[in-house]
Amino acid sequence: MVVASSPHTLALDPVVLQSLAGALRGGLIGPEDPDYDDARKVYNAMIDKRPALIARCVDASDVITALAFAREHGLLVAVRGGGHHGAGLGICDGGLVVDLSPMKGVRVDPVARTARVGAGCTWADVDHATHAFGLATPSGIVSTTGVAGLTLGGGLGHLTRRYGLTIDNLIEADVVLADGRFVTTSAEEHPDLFWALRGGSGNFGVVTSFLFRLHPIHTVYAGPMFWDIDRSDEVLRWYREFLPAASDELTGFFCFHIVPPAPPFPEELHGKPICGVVWCYTGPMERAEATFAPIRSRFGPPTLDWVGPIPHPALQGMFDGLYPPGLQWYWKADFFAELSDEAIARHVEFGAQLPSVQSGMHLYPIDGAAGRVPADATAWNWRGAKWAQVMAGIGPDPADNDRLIAWARAYWEALHPHSAGGAYVNMMMEEGADRVRASYGANYDRLAAIKARYDPTNLFRVNQNIKPAAVAG
Ligand SMILES: Cc1cc2nc3c(=O)[nH]c(=O)nc-3n(C[C@H](O)[C@H](O)[C@H](O)COP(=O)(O)OP(=O)(O)OC[C@H]3O[C@@H](n4cnc5c(N)ncnc54)[C@H](O)[C@@H]3O)c2cc1C
Repeated sequence: MVVASSPHTLALDPVVLQSLAGALRGGLIGPEDPDYDDARKVYNAMIDKRPALIARCVDASDVITALAFAREHGLLVAVRGGGHHGAGLGICDGGLVVDLSPMKGVRVDPVARTARVGAGCTWADVDHATHAFGLATPSGIVSTTGVAGLTLGGGLGHLTRRYGLTIDNLIEADVVLADGRFVTTSAEEHPDLFWALRGGSGNFGVVTSFLFRLHPIHTVYAGPMFWDIDRSDEVLRWYREFLPAASDELTGFFCFHIVPPAPPFPEELHGKPICGVVWCYTGPMERAEATFAPIRSRFGPPTLDWVGPIPHPALQGMFDGLYPPGLQWYWKADFFAELSDEAIARHVEFGAQLPSVQSGMHLYPIDGAAGRVPADATAWNWRGAKWAQVMAGIGPDPADNDRLIAWARAYWEALHPHSAGGAYVNMMMEEGADRVRASYGANYDRLAAIKARYDPTNLFRVNQNIKPAAVAG
């Protein structure tokens, strides 16, 4: 590391910094280093923060060292997994970033059907490693997303109805706590911490590795099926009844999108708004065609039908190319217990006015296996809701930001009165303490009490923050 004075390092003695740099096996990056600008970039290009120090951690020992330094010097701490949080919660201004991205490595145990995953992995790393054994665990829908942040916030994706949220498949986690202690947590060890980690986001410690349960998933019958935007009212009315009644083997998230003006999309559809469902069927392959026959004929032939047998990692990476890092992102979310006629009317209105090719609205199903877990079994408490909704204004040009943000906010405001009252913390911007409280609902007070036990000084506060409960007496 180059040690020189800068607005962010002035207060720190160069000798002290040099000794931190020497103690970290992964290295230390400061504002004077040539790779500083790359190292501080996160997925959402709307976020432009300048930390004082970035500690590249290769193991739990580096994490312990970095946290001890932050405590000793009173530095704000941000913890970075995959860097995908929309609000840029993996980075901070002026403080120290515990950057876990070098902590790669997936070890699959095909007999026990588990995977031990390093905290710097993306879902592409996990899917690649498990697919060779015909196994997978529930994750999200874009494979560049970080395992750590997605898991700690809950984890919604193509396997949610079949096998639950990502946290429902977490068996154990290694954690460095705020005071520097290292613990392994599971249903048996530190069960209160294990409960809180499963949905409580990064509030309780730095997770250095995860142990996941795997399931027999290899080839799925999946992909997008789109209809003309004029059919969105009838498609949504059908979808709200059809999917909750379907077997757990079938899932599909409803979406509004604009057809990208590039191959492989048919030229006559380029730039057109469409509605559709991205399906994923995990039942016996010989029943797949019969499962989809009534869907395919429901509204006449779909405008675009790319549903068929594909390897699970191909589905997981299907949208990566449309959403490279470096776009401007602004999104807003809510949970829904039902889709009322009035809510559908608002969707039809706003879905037809997408502000850019990358923007969209998704309704992720969270019933099936995820919905059967008791609401108080994990910190994530939306087991009674049926959909997680997100509307995202996305584009390459910062000059469009006001327009993208205005569309997402207006759409969200139109739907919010019909929602269940809270949102998925992984798909929110920084929206204030009341919104975080609403998102944890009945579980919030228990989380605040556990926070007081494991992080009483709120060292981990660059996140959807749960404040430590005031200690009585
Ligand atoms: C393109 C895209 C697609 C997405 N798709 C889905 C999806 O399908 N399903 C879904 O559920 N979510 C999805 N998300 C949301 C995603 O779950 C969140 O953005 C999540 O925070 C990403 O995790 P990360 O590690 O990449 O993020 P980061 O920005 O690195 O971290 C996010 C938060 O987690 C904390 N954190 C990270 N690592 C650790 C750790 N090891 N220990 C303690 N705290 C930690 C950070 O401090 C921060 O508060 C998507 C996001 C994007 C941008």
